[in-house]
Parts: sequence; C-alpha cells; structure tokens
Amino acid sequence: MIQDIKPHQFHNEFRPHPPKPDSRILNYHDRTIMVKKTADHQLYFPTFQDLYDNGLGVCEQYTYLFSIDSISYYAFPEVETFLPEGYEFISLQKLRYAKPQHLAFAGVTGYQLYEWYVSRRFCGKCGRPLKKDTKERMLYCDFCKQVEYPVISPAVIVAITNGDSILLSKYADREYKKYALIAGFTEVGETVEETIQREVMEEVGLKVTNVRYYKSQPWSFTGSLLLGFFCEVDGDDSIHMDSNELAVAKWVKREEIPVVDSDISLTNEMITQFRLGLEK
Ligand SMILES: [Zn+2]
Repeated sequence: MIQDIKPHQFHNEFRPHPPKPDSRILNYHDRTIMVKKTADHQLYFPTFQDLYDNGLGVCEQYTYLFSIDSISYYAFPEVETFLPEGYEFISLQKLRYAKPQHLAFAGVTGYQLYEWYVSRRFCGKCGRPLKKDTKERMLYCDFCKQVEYPVISPAVIVAITNGDSILLSKYADREYKKYALIAGFTEVGETVEETIQREVMEEVGLKVTNVRYYKSQPWSFTGSLLLGFFCEVDGDDSIHMDSNELAVAKWVKREEIPVVDSDISLTNEMITQFRLGLEK
C-alpha cells in the first residue's frame, strides 16, 4: 500500500528545523505538484540547493512537514506558486502510480498538510491571522485563543462477501473508474460500526453481519484515514443501488475478479485478498 515504503522510514514527529541543502521542496498548485521533467519518469522533487542553482533565492517562508530517513520535506503555504526551468506540475492523482513509492507517499502526505496550512491562515472565529506553534503541529490565535490541529476524516472501506462472491462497485462521477468497495465517511455522533451498517444500507440496500477489522490506511488524497472491514451479507442479497453515488454494484465471483496491477490502495489489497482466497 502507499504507506508501505520500507526500507525507508517516515518520521512525522513534529521537530521543525531550518532546511539543509538536500532538504526537499513540495510545491503545490491546486491539486498538482511540481516535479522535475525526467527521461525515466521517476519522481524528483527539488532540493533547496537545486533552487539556489536555478538562480532562485531560497525563500524564508518554508514550513517543515516531515522527514523520510534523514531527508526533511518543506512546503510554502504562504508563497505564490513558482515553476523553475525543467520542472512541471503533475496531477496529484498521478502519485497513485508514480515511482519511487516513498516519494509518491511524501508528495500526497505533504499535500494534506499543505492544504491544512493554506486553508487556515486566519482564525475561523475572529478572523485574525493564525500563528504556527513551535512545539506541536498546531495553529493558534493570539487574540481569541482558538487552536487548530490537522484534520483527519475517518472513513470505512467495506468488503461484503456472499459465499464465493464479493460486492464490487464503481463510483458515479469520479476520476477513479476501477472497481471499488463500499466506502463512506463517519458522521458526527456515530461509531465506526454504525458507519458500516449505514453506508452499506444507503449505497446497496443490504444488511451485513460478522464484521471483522482488516487494516487501516492513511489516504491523504481525500484527507482521510481509511479503516478496512470484511463482513458477510445478512439475509436477502438483492442489491438496491443508490445511483447518485454508484454507477455499478454487483456480486462478482472470486475467479471473475479482474486483476489490478497497482497495489497502493487498501481497497485493491482487500479485493486481492478475497480473490486469492485469503479472506472469506
Ligand atoms: Zn481568533
């Protein structure tokens, strides 16, 4: 999955420090990220040294994000987009398939933090500029004492099985066109167990039982933490699809499940587990 970047190690402990020449810059514009144009299509994010060599002064308004191994990553939430010679902006979606994977993970994880910083420049209560705390990843208002922490939205991914079949779906009106599982965000005041029952009923009109937790996955494309569950259909297995949310929802036999190469998503790993008979 996208977060499985071994032997590299992700360090999200909040230890802000000034960049070194080899520190990496994650430069975003809307839902795109700046990468070097390379012949082999391998991801490359510029270092502070690269910018300096490109004749661009090194900006003082950097924000420390995290480190991978000994390399630190920074973004510029307060600075206008720039594009040095030899670089281009690519869609964030391309990071789903980009290599090396630890850089793809850095790019998308950095985006979630960058988005949080740019959308919280001002206090939501009193409208004054927010300040960055130096001890934890937090923003605060000096005037009204409002504090802001990064937002992570929990969401469930539900694999519903029915003997030798699994329920596969396709989204209506989404960039992602491959098979998916039933998924949805947890609402305020709800347990994750209740989210599963509600989402399954809303999207395909089924009841489920024997719910088992599988694994989780940080999914910064949508600012979420995905929680994966396997469960079985309970009683009537006729599907009543919500056509506002889904374009397809059907039972697919184990041997008829299409093989998908990309293995960065929890959804794909769960479908593969079932296809190989590792989850029943
Ligand atoms: Zn305030």
